[in-house]
Amino acid sequence: MSDHQAEDPTGSEPTSKRQSPSRSRTSARRGASGPRTVLRRARLASADGLSEPTDVYVRGGLVEGFDLGGAVDLELDAREQLVTPAFIDLHAHLRDPGQEVKEDLASGLAAAAAGGFGTVVSMANTTPPVDDPGLVTDLVRRAELIGQARLRPAATVSVGMRGERLTDFAALKAAGAVMLTDDGIPIADAHLMRRACEYAAELGLVIQTHSEEPRLRADGVMNEGRVSRELGLPGNTASAEAVMVFRDTEIARLTGARVHIAHVSCERAMRVAEWQRANGAPITIEVTPQHLTLTDESLRAFDPVFKVAPPLRTAADVAHLKEALRRGAVDNIGTDHAPHTLAEKERDLLEAPFGIANLEVTFALLYTRLVLTGELPLAALLRLLQGGPASVMGWQAPTLTPGAAADLTVIDLESELPVQGRSFKSKAKHNPWEGERLRGWPRLTLVRGNVCYDREAGDR
Ligand SMILES: [Zn+2]
Repeated sequence: MSDHQAEDPTGSEPTSKRQSPSRSRTSARRGASGPRTVLRRARLASADGLSEPTDVYVRGGLVEGFDLGGAVDLELDAREQLVTPAFIDLHAHLRDPGQEVKEDLASGLAAAAAGGFGTVVSMANTTPPVDDPGLVTDLVRRAELIGQARLRPAATVSVGMRGERLTDFAALKAAGAVMLTDDGIPIADAHLMRRACEYAAELGLVIQTHSEEPRLRADGVMNEGRVSRELGLPGNTASAEAVMVFRDTEIARLTGARVHIAHVSCERAMRVAEWQRANGAPITIEVTPQHLTLTDESLRAFDPVFKVAPPLRTAADVAHLKEALRRGAVDNIGTDHAPHTLAEKERDLLEAPFGIANLEVTFALLYTRLVLTGELPLAALLRLLQGGPASVMGWQAPTLTPGAAADLTVIDLESELPVQGRSFKSKAKHNPWEGERLRGWPRLTLVRGNVCYDREAGDR
């Protein structure tokens, strides 16, 4: 058994943990009498579709209740809109510190809120990498000042992400790191991975992997297969992923560590992960919006906007991932939001960096391409963005029950609008879905009861 207890993702930031009991009670009292907001005539998701129009009341940063009546400070029209707990992304590259030309905390967290996300786990492959408790503390402090979506930082597994020596997991956890990952770079040394898993298991921390066998993936810039051969581009075989998923899940089984397999992109890796889980490996499985909606055929345009790691795979792989979603084999959808500058992404396909910026398009993309097509129920998509990621982390599932944190997103399920990168809050405006007409755009996002994103207010 893990000693990791279910905690509230919204109420357990290290700063609040350090508060004295009397300070906490004071905050709660102040909260109860704080500003009161109502979302009028909202539709709530339920097991059998959408509820009747309901007034949702928010007070002092918490959900107060439904159809209560009475005076309010702020009234928001949510007619014919879905009101649901704000999403949780376990996989976003916010590039801060050190790569602020690509993204920074303020732009990344604003992009998250614009995508309906209320909580984001930031990846640690920054400059310098987040391998030191002071860097974690600084991220947490700055994110609180920004007051946008909540930040729960990841820290690196190895010092400098060099894959040689473990970081001080206990100190990183004490500083507020919620996950350990060298994501961006696979951990090549199996012995180091084993020691990391043993250490993380003791602390109840999640290790997230970037599972690609580095020597097998080599210099591949796209999926190895018929399309890469026709284009004469260096391929990255699905076997590189399947081999590493086997190793990482095997070490999870050996050590009992909670290993989260990030961005599973192909049928073979998914089959390996599922087989290992069925045989006792304590793992969880993530897929991304790009691997559910794009194939290696996209690379025929030689456009680096489609260059991502692991690479876009074949239509058969996409079909298998969708089938895995339907079976409930996938724990969460992580965006792997990976912003780069336009100049970087306009380089030659061989030279351009890997990564797709997608925080703001994720829900509309998946709602339009999976839910409206009848391939996935809305409730299943919501679970992959709410209770699913919470469960991966051992956090309480977000709910709309009275007393829960008022981290809410309001989704416009009806209006069909084109993807317009130029209106993204992210510094990265280029994306693979530019111009595609989608439904299901987030319209409002509240975090701690405060409006962090409002499309109507010219935010879009
Ligand atoms: Zn990765």
